[in-house]
Amino acid sequence: MRTWDETIKKPARNFGKDRTMAQDTVTVIVPEGAIPNEDLLSELVEIGMRLIAEKHGEKEDWPEKYGVVFDNEIFTMHPFCWCEKDECEYCQEEDRSPNFLHKKTGLKVHWYKYIGRSMEISGDVTVNDVLDIIKECLRE
Ligand SMILES: [Zn+2]
Repeated sequence: MRTWDETIKKPARNFGKDRTMAQDTVTVIVPEGAIPNEDLLSELVEIGMRLIAEKHGEKEDWPEKYGVVFDNEIFTMHPFCWCEKDECEYCQEEDRSPNFLHKKTGLKVHWYKYIGRSMEISGDVTVNDVLDIIKECLRE
């Protein structure tokens, strides 16, 4: 059994059709073996991306839906882009830059238009690593 607590400073919001966060605290309890690790990892990454974007974005830009332009020594985040300019690294068909990169572990996340849609996660990380990464990116 693992428990993860992360305090969200902003008021609760609906994070998509079947995922409502109605409290100020997110608690993820993982009974060992109850959920395939791959699904869990992908769910956690999606939730994490939304929380990180929300923390570092402006509410009116819907960061929890699209992501946010943000870069520091820990991670880089950039929304999917629709500009279709040849030189744009965020809307290419191939070799698109990741929408999220955790610099230390090399965890990369791509999504199509919205966080969670056609999401690709690459990097040699465990569920616990992902939890640590999310916590690190949510710290001030
Ligand atoms: Zn673009």
